[in-house]
Amino acid sequence: MRQRLVMIGNGMAGVSFVEQLLKLNPKRFDVTIIGAEPYPNYNRIMLSSVLAGDAKMQDIILNDWDWYKENHITLHTGETVTSIDPAAKAVLTDKGASIPYDELVLATGSLPFMLPLPGAEKEGVIAFRDIKDCETMIETAKHYRKAIVIGGGLLGLEAASGLLHLNMEVSVVHKHAHIMERQLDSTASRMLQEELERQGIRFLLQQQSDAVLGDSRVSGLRFKDGTEEAADLIVMAVGIRPNIQLARESGIQVNQGIVVDDYMQTNVPNIYAVGECAEHRETLYGLVAPLYEQGAILAKKLAGVAVDGYKGSVVSTKLKVSGVHVFSAGRYADGPGTKALRVQDDLEGVYKKIVFENGKVVGAVMFGDTIESSKVYAAIRSGEDYSGREKEILFGGAGASGGGRAVSEADLAAAMSGDEIVCGCNGVAKETIVTAIMEQGCVSIGEIKACTKASGSCGTCKPVVEAILAATIGFDQVAVVKEGICGCTTLTRDAVVEAIRRMRLTTTKEVMHVLEWNNPEGCSKCRPALNYYIGMLYPEDHEDELESRFVNERNHANIQKDGTFSVVPRIYGGVTTPGDLKKIASVAEKYNVPLVKITGGQRIDLLGVKKEDLPNVWKDLDMPSGYAYGKALRTVKTCVGNTFCRFGTQDAIKMGIDLEKKFERLNTPSKVKLAVSGCPRNCAEATIKDLGVVAIDGGWELYVAGNGGMRVRAADLLTKVKTEEEVLEWTGAYLQYYRETANFGERTSEWSMRVGLDTIKAALANQADRDALNERIDVTLGRTQDPWKQIVENDDLRSAFEALTAPVSPEAAASKESGESNKRGGREG
Ligand SMILES: Cc1cc2nc3c(=O)[nH]c(=O)nc-3n(C[C@H](O)[C@H](O)[C@H](O)COP(=O)(O)OP(=O)(O)OC[C@H]3O[C@@H](n4cnc5c(N)ncnc54)[C@H](O)[C@@H]3O)c2cc1C
Ligand code: SF4
Repeated sequence: MRQRLVMIGNGMAGVSFVEQLLKLNPKRFDVTIIGAEPYPNYNRIMLSSVLAGDAKMQDIILNDWDWYKENHITLHTGETVTSIDPAAKAVLTDKGASIPYDELVLATGSLPFMLPLPGAEKEGVIAFRDIKDCETMIETAKHYRKAIVIGGGLLGLEAASGLLHLNMEVSVVHKHAHIMERQLDSTASRMLQEELERQGIRFLLQQQSDAVLGDSRVSGLRFKDGTEEAADLIVMAVGIRPNIQLARESGIQVNQGIVVDDYMQTNVPNIYAVGECAEHRETLYGLVAPLYEQGAILAKKLAGVAVDGYKGSVVSTKLKVSGVHVFSAGRYADGPGTKALRVQDDLEGVYKKIVFENGKVVGAVMFGDTIESSKVYAAIRSGEDYSGREKEILFGGAGASGGGRAVSEADLAAAMSGDEIVCGCNGVAKETIVTAIMEQGCVSIGEIKACTKASGSCGTCKPVVEAILAATIGFDQVAVVKEGICGCTTLTRDAVVEAIRRMRLTTTKEVMHVLEWNNPEGCSKCRPALNYYIGMLYPEDHEDELESRFVNERNHANIQKDGTFSVVPRIYGGVTTPGDLKKIASVAEKYNVPLVKITGGQRIDLLGVKKEDLPNVWKDLDMPSGYAYGKALRTVKTCVGNTFCRFGTQDAIKMGIDLEKKFERLNTPSKVKLAVSGCPRNCAEATIKDLGVVAIDGGWELYVAGNGGMRVRAADLLTKVKTEEEVLEWTGAYLQYYRETANFGERTSEWSMRVGLDTIKAALANQADRDALNERIDVTLGRTQDPWKQIVENDDLRSAFEALTAPVSPEAAASKESGESNKRGGREG
């Protein structure tokens, strides 16, 4: 006869344990699960993705209702266990049910900690823990404007990023001097803060909350120093407390959590605990990877399979904020007997610190580039001795090139050892993924996820899983079942573009309607993408939808962290004149511009311009926009070339100016930077540009798909040509092919790695094909106009621009809600 297994809690750790138990011994137990929330098991981790618009609620269900039925599990949802009677071996619920058990598992998780501030009970003060909180935030953002997140830890920052995506103005209040101080050292923390400020989040550090202000609904927050901050919503993300009240009241031993031994057993016979509620060797865990390990051990024990006890876990952390790469694991702080390998590049925003003790990696922090994170994490877990070869972890092996920086995910995937953990959340090693591909025939991320669970939780390992897939069966064989361009549709980018073309769809609304978007308003991910694709396909008819553009593009200037803007006029080829310099200087003086800076792209940046001054600044400058804010051609950097330099073989300045004059104002899937060097000494750094032109004796070399940003990538040689006309022709064809085939938001380096250099070369090899591409790009170029001039000369545009800067009331915000997408924009740098 089957034994009765009852589990309290229907969350991630508990259900993962049940899944493993059913795999090991499906017939041993009749399983009953009681969960207080009214849903089947869902991926709590992905609540952040739902807020950020990357997933819909329905996407985050891990085990749907049918799964429980198919596995003969009796499920009680929306029902809470109120007491346990260990003597009678039964649990009682708030609906009056008494459920007997032979074995009982507590998987009650945690409760969010709410600061006991005066006024904390007011409407609009919430936590960030479950679907209900998430729905409240989404609803609030439709009607209100200002949000405060209390807590600058992982959860707080993900909440803040999500609220920003929902068009709210977000301030993060943190009592420490550094955000994420438990996972990051001060350098990484500072770099993270700068990046998030750039995205639009404000930080109020070293501030202690004192009271929630407002009548029935929150209107603000007062701090201990007496200052106040207005708010329509306050999200408390200040920590969690294990949910142990039920255990305590039932006579089960508790400390901070429910005390368990190495087999997850409590002090009461036949009662176990797993997940965030369990305390093992005085340690509590708040991330799923260790909780799943606990569940695996308990599953084996209850299935009657021999198993070593749980010994505790090393945890690693990644922040799930779009455009931000952060990794932290183990003991990253310096201590007696430790040595650290540090790499810091403030210019590129990259920082890596690997801490060694007796030659072994014991901890790491990475910001900006976390490509080696799984390797580092594996090294921490394995305890491998790196004595004498410590630098290998960042610079050596693994196909590293270019000083260890330009490693692609594909290189890394190929070089990973089989036992290296790829998916930290679910503990899936590379060899498990390879086996699923080779033996179970998985050829897409979705199939690998279904077979192995890899990438099924926080999703940050998805690029590595993709790379393993490609490395295992070859790029050309990968039938990656591509995912929808965002959570609003299941259609891929290619399917959407094809439908726009075939059905001649001309507005984003029409696309969303005809292609049956599940969110009729779209989101900040799909709307700018659709606007771009339509404009790319129909340059002659397309009316640019300003409301579908990111905030910087709407304002034609880059928003800064203090709400002011930066203004960068076009300076063709980086060559200016005394006249232009005088104009720039007098504008800077007239408008009290606090900082005038020469940029890395050889431009002059006026930083700190007030919103209301922008049109007048543009008028007085009387220079074209430099598009420093857009997904467009940014700059063409040049060296002095043979005009002045004794090494120069060609006129790099003229070539650069010609290129910039021809392709300025061109909308592209992501920003595009060009450079021209007058000889192979390459002073203009052309080989880390989207397109770089390097003069050689008797001609020019064209390099493509380089990147000098977060992931440095040396450009590939595309072709050699003899004349300036050919440079322009190849550049036009290349840029148009990129415009037509890249995903919106994809840099040329990513695009080239995805489609392959050979494909690009083949597409441009024939003169006829290049001519056709140039014809199409010329149509687009022929219709561009300088946006600053347009705004300065057109009262309507100007007044609309002024209106954008006016304060918006909650009512106005609500009525504008359908039109406003992503107020602070996404990653636009
Ligand atoms: C927004 C967010 C983002 C996160 N991101 C990450 C991440 O990136 N990586 C990571 O590893 N972790 C992340 N986490 C943490 C991770 O979600 C948790 O560690 C994990 O969900 C804990 O699982 P659990 O089963 O122990 O508890 P829970 O998932 O909390 O499940 C416990 C369940 O038990 C129910 N319950 C409690 N008491 C009773 C009772 N008496 N009767 C019936 N039911 C009861 C609760 O209602 C709850 O549904 C995140 C968490 C949040 C909130
Ligand atoms: S790249 Fe060559 S031509 Fe240009 S400045 Fe350097 S040395 Fe002179």
